Formats: sequence, C-alpha cells, structure tokens
Amino acid sequence: MPMFERRQTRQIFVGKVPVGGNAPITVQSMTITKTADVEGTLQQIYALAAAGCDIVRCTCNEAEAAEGLAQIVPRSPIPIIADIHHQYRMALAALEAGVQGLRLNPGNIRRPEHIKAVAAEARDRNVPIRIGVNGGSLDPALYTKWGGITPEAMVESAMQELAYFQEVDFDLVKISVKASNVPLMVEAYRQLSEATNVPLHLGVTEAGPPPAGLVKATAGISTLLLEGIGDTIRYSLTADPVEEARAGRQLLEALGLRERKNVDLIACPSCGRAEVDVIDVANRAMKAFGDREIPLQVAVMGCVVNGPGEAREADIGIAAGNKRGHLFVKGRNVAVVAESEMVEALVEWAEYIHEHGAEAAIARVDTALAEREAAKDRAQLLDDKGNDANHAHDKIIEIRKRVEH
Ligand code: SF4
Repeated sequence: MPMFERRQTRQIFVGKVPVGGNAPITVQSMTITKTADVEGTLQQIYALAAAGCDIVRCTCNEAEAAEGLAQIVPRSPIPIIADIHHQYRMALAALEAGVQGLRLNPGNIRRPEHIKAVAAEARDRNVPIRIGVNGGSLDPALYTKWGGITPEAMVESAMQELAYFQEVDFDLVKISVKASNVPLMVEAYRQLSEATNVPLHLGVTEAGPPPAGLVKATAGISTLLLEGIGDTIRYSLTADPVEEARAGRQLLEALGLRERKNVDLIACPSCGRAEVDVIDVANRAMKAFGDREIPLQVAVMGCVVNGPGEAREADIGIAAGNKRGHLFVKGRNVAVVAESEMVEALVEWAEYIHEHGAEAAIARVDTALAEREAAKDRAQLLDDKGNDANHAHDKIIEIRKRVEH
C-alpha cells in the first residue's frame, strides 16, 4: 500500500497489538482523566478506540492510579500503557495492575538500579517498555555534555537507557525522542533510526491547541513517516484526546499507511461559481458522518458545472446548482434533491453504497434522467454566469474608477 519504503524494525507486541516490523503503523493517545476515576477513564478509552486509537496511555502517578489500572485493564477494548515519571515504584505497581506496556522517562528516573529493577520485572511479565525521551526533561548531565537540548543528547539518553535494559536481558523496547521543536525532533529521530532497529514511537511534544498544534505535529510526524521512519504515532494536542486519535488516524489514511475506516470527506474550496455555502454544507456533512465506520470518499462540491467532474473519483458526491443538489456516484449523476436535503441525501446514499456497493446503488435509479437534470442546471448556470463567475467585468470598471481619481 505505501508508496515509500519503510525502515525495518524489530517487532514487539503491546498486548495483542504488534508494533514495528511489517505491522501497520498504530495510533496512540492518552487519557486526561484521573486514572483513579475508573468509569470516567474507561468512557474516554472507549471514545478514543472509536476514533481510531489502537493503544492508549494512562498516567500512573499515585497508588490510587495503579489501583484504578487494575480495574481498567480487563475492561479496556485496547491495550493500556502506564505513563511513569520520577517514581520507579509506580512502574512496578502498574505491572502488578496488569498493564500491557510501560513508558519510562529516562530524564527523571535516573538511578540505574531502579531502571534495571523495572526492566527485569517487565521482562519476567513479557511487558514492553517505551523509552520516552523528552527534550524538555532531558537528563541534566547530557544537557551539560551537549551544550543544550540537541538531537545527539536525546539519542544518547535513549541509548543509555537501552544499555541498562540490555544488562538485564530485556529487549521488548520502543523508543521516542520527542521535542516541541519540529526540526530538532525530526533530526533526533533520523539519528536514532540510524543507531538502532528498535521500533520508534513518533510525536511532537506539547504541540499545543489546534490548528497550530495539528500543523506542527503533522509536519514532524509525516516528514519522518515519508522517510520510512516510525512504527507508532501520537499527536500531543491541547484538546480533547479524541481529536488526537482522529488526527493520527487521518494522517495514516492520507499517507496510505492504513486502510480507510471512516468517511474521507473531500470538498471544493468554493469560488465565485459556488451555488451554496460549501463550508456550511461540508461541516454539516462532517458532523452527520462523525466517527461512523463508512470507509468511502464523499465529496461536497459547490457547483454542478465543475463539481461532478472534479470529484469523479469520489464514491459518492453532491454538487449544488439552481437550488438543487445533484448526487453523483463515481462521476455519474444519479439523483437530484432539494438544496435543503443535500446532507441527508448524501448520508443515505453513502449508507446504501457501503452496504450494497456502488453498482447496486446506481442500478436503483434512472441515471439518464439525473444526467439530463444536471445538464439543464449546468447550462443555465453557464448562461447566467458565463465566464464571468466572479463578476470581473463590473469589478474592473470599479477598479478603473478608483485608479483614475
Ligand atoms: S466545484 Fe464549482 S464552486 Fe467548487 S471550486 Fe470548483 S468551480 Fe468553484
């Protein structure tokens, strides 16, 4: 499926989910509830799984959180990773709770005997650990050695931790070297991928709220994925974690790295020819489809003059014209509906196609009639607007008046 070569890594399993090797790239996110709140956390985990999250991380920062994990793990639809900072005992408690993975930050659990104690326990339980290096919490000794947060310092931090793990014969490992600075993070992962064949978890840490956070995370993660680097990803957004899962899933689908799960909504950017408020119709359609598992490409186009042709690859689409919506399937006009029913019709047709296939959907209507109606509206719009859809002629007269004065 991908059009670029993926770098080969060792494969590990987080619960039943494979990471690395030829396994599909997975999406991760993190709950923002208190882990001790078992029902609230499970509710969020279910929402994340529905949005495309494959593996979820929960903080394990206190005994109550570890106790919560013991109850969450057996009821979770996806594997749970416990996030550990500072207190290595919390890692041991999380393993006792039955988590399918741990994340350790080498910047804040630094005593070798603690690191090795956790790795030995994880080895005995066959539980993988992510070495989660974070630019912002780098080991001060490495900061001093490298004169700041550099890709080299981050890679060295990860490799030091890996060496401790190897001392106790533990190799169920994945690594991340996240930073909030995109070029720094990209370079750190590049260097890391040269240094080891351990599977890599990609992320731009503290990317911030969308849309800027989405742009930053996408810039870093997709640059690396297109170079074949990365086995699992997380968007760290200051937003509902469901947004993170959705973004991760959508990125992988857009890059052809995962099968489409939900609707891929495409829409024209609108222009002077638009017969309808494309932004409004597209947003309403997006909401109507939500996280429903209809893996089709659906198009919302502003005019019947160019819409059906420009979106002829879409499984189902609708184009506006003369207060009507023209539905088309794989570029063929199939039906005409009132402008106010465009979104409902789109959903109904998508559901039918998903269930019965495009051919069956086309067979149930008179396509010749739909095409005649579309041709009629197209001709009228061309007549009305001709080549001057933006009223350029009137504007030019106005511009000239202003320039002359
Ligand atoms: S489909 Fe029509 S309205 Fe949309 S950008 Fe193309 S020409 Fe403009």
